Amino acid sequence: MEQFQFKTEVSQLLELIIHSLYSHKEIFLRELISNASDALDKLNYLTLTDEKYKGLSYSPRIDIKFEEGDNPTLTISDSGIGMNQDDLVANLGTIANSGTKNFLKNLSAEAKKDSNLIGQFGVGFYACFMVANKVEVTTKKVGEEEAYLWSSEGKGSFSITKAQREACGTDIKLYLNEEGKEYASRYQLESLIKKYSDHIWAPIFLTYEDISYETPQEGKEAVKKSEIKTTQINEASALWRVAKADLKDEDYNNFYKGISYDVNDPLLTIHTKAEGTLEYTTLFYIPEVAPIDMYYADYKPGVKLYVKRVFITDDNKELMPPYLRFLKGVIDSEDLPLNVSREILQQNRVMSTIRNASVKKVLSEIKKLSQTNQERFEKFVSQYNRPMKEGLVSDYANKDELLEIVRFKSSEVEGYTSLSAYKERMKSDQKAIYYITGGKEDSLRNSPLLNGYKKRGLEVLICDDDIDDFVIPTIGRFNDIELKAVNRSDAADELKSDEDKKIEGDYAPVAAKIKEKLEGKVKDVTISTNLGEAPSAVVADENDPTAQMQHMLKAMGQTNLPAVLPILQINPEHKLVNMVKENESDSDLISDIATVLLDQALLIESSTLENPVAFVAALNRLIVKG
Ligand code: ADP
Ligand code: MG
Repeated sequence: MEQFQFKTEVSQLLELIIHSLYSHKEIFLRELISNASDALDKLNYLTLTDEKYKGLSYSPRIDIKFEEGDNPTLTISDSGIGMNQDDLVANLGTIANSGTKNFLKNLSAEAKKDSNLIGQFGVGFYACFMVANKVEVTTKKVGEEEAYLWSSEGKGSFSITKAQREACGTDIKLYLNEEGKEYASRYQLESLIKKYSDHIWAPIFLTYEDISYETPQEGKEAVKKSEIKTTQINEASALWRVAKADLKDEDYNNFYKGISYDVNDPLLTIHTKAEGTLEYTTLFYIPEVAPIDMYYADYKPGVKLYVKRVFITDDNKELMPPYLRFLKGVIDSEDLPLNVSREILQQNRVMSTIRNASVKKVLSEIKKLSQTNQERFEKFVSQYNRPMKEGLVSDYANKDELLEIVRFKSSEVEGYTSLSAYKERMKSDQKAIYYITGGKEDSLRNSPLLNGYKKRGLEVLICDDDIDDFVIPTIGRFNDIELKAVNRSDAADELKSDEDKKIEGDYAPVAAKIKEKLEGKVKDVTISTNLGEAPSAVVADENDPTAQMQHMLKAMGQTNLPAVLPILQINPEHKLVNMVKENESDSDLISDIATVLLDQALLIESSTLENPVAFVAALNRLIVKG
């Protein structure tokens, strides 16, 4: 017998599972059945694709047995691929999945109580220690001679010895603890299998003792008869192959819960059967709450690929574009070869046709939701607006559809608005759709740059998402209407009246004086009557990147960026600006005012100052003078 230590992260996970997950302890069964089903899938696949195993005859099945009494046990067996010693050490001694590791690291104390999340990350097997104080795994790998017994009490170590098992496959025997003894019951097991595993394609058999009483003969006691029976519990149908008309919401929802480990019903279900040049079925679900790993680079894809009902992979991020990574479900194709590899999938015409059609279908169903069920669509926006924006940049072919789906905050309406709704509210002479990016919602809403728009009743989209700086400028146009950032010099042209132009002329010398003092720091100094109470603001020149875009490029490691100077707008109604007008020859004073006008505008748009000391000094001199 060899003794092994669990890897640290497994010990941590076990600790977590045993101490915080009692509320959902029944999920252990779902996990073990899903592993058994995976093992059958893997063997099935080998017999279809690998010459060495093509002749192998085996009957795919999962068997569940239990013993009641003082030492209750529960055994889950499968006739699947099995494991050898190396597999046992690698699979049941570590956490192979890097997503799971990340998940553990980032999990908050609150979230740790939610066993639902554990399921999402496939840490499945270890869940059995919630209900067992000892677990024995007897297993034999297909094509190998030796069988092994893995045994552990879930406390830091496990042992492996040689064992006996006739055919390939795995038995998992749980010695049930106080928490788990209730599962040694026919009624409990039947209802759990129905609840979680009805759709598993392999038959699941439950063996139990059937007790009956023979009608007593007069004057005699009833005779107790016991019989051991085995019955199949699950439906074992691939639900996605069933015709829509024969499925109820409940069927769809139960299937969803089985594959997603979510306890809630899905937000949206999309079931499609394509017949014609290509034959395939897809069943997609959008979870009500975004998967917890949605923003991890190594998220676990939620869409599984089947070929003619044979499971191929659940770990291929190319099945659907990354921005739709929150989808759960199944793609089942009639036209792909069974032994399709990752590389082949990548360039396969059948696969790309299915993917393109699926993306279009999903987007059109989301759009439909926005028209038919406001409440659900709002939930969708609250969870998935951001990935949809990623789509705007990455999926050019579906840009128009995405622009109908993405929602924005706005200076004029509560909550969110669509671009079409904005368009309907536009003034008859309005030339563009205006937006502001680059900060928190509050500071954007209060930006002096919005004053002119407010004054003229022009709506501005408030784009406060951190990817907005990147995404929104790439949109360009919506239905032929240009989108313009308010912190660009050209956007303000629309706001100018004849009166404004006259004031511009009057203050041109002031602007020139200030510009002279800010040589090398600004591209230009212009007059704006739209700044309200603010003395100044900075904007970017028409084709220059905005300050926020520059920050982002720098953060992404772009070092050789050309220096981009802002344009300083000054307010002709402000005292500070007028002080320049009234003290034309006081060069020191004008220099201080110029510094303060520029630096405070930079501060407001959350830029850091090049020389904060000079700013404070100039400010103090002005205060003393004032
Ligand atoms: P996951 O199923 O997400 O990979 P689990 O913790 O449920 O994570 O299982 C860990 C690994 O142990 C599986 O990936 C598989 O390789 C192996 N395993 C578990 N149960 C079985 C089984 N019944 N037959 C064969 N391999 C199994
Ligand atoms: Mg599993």
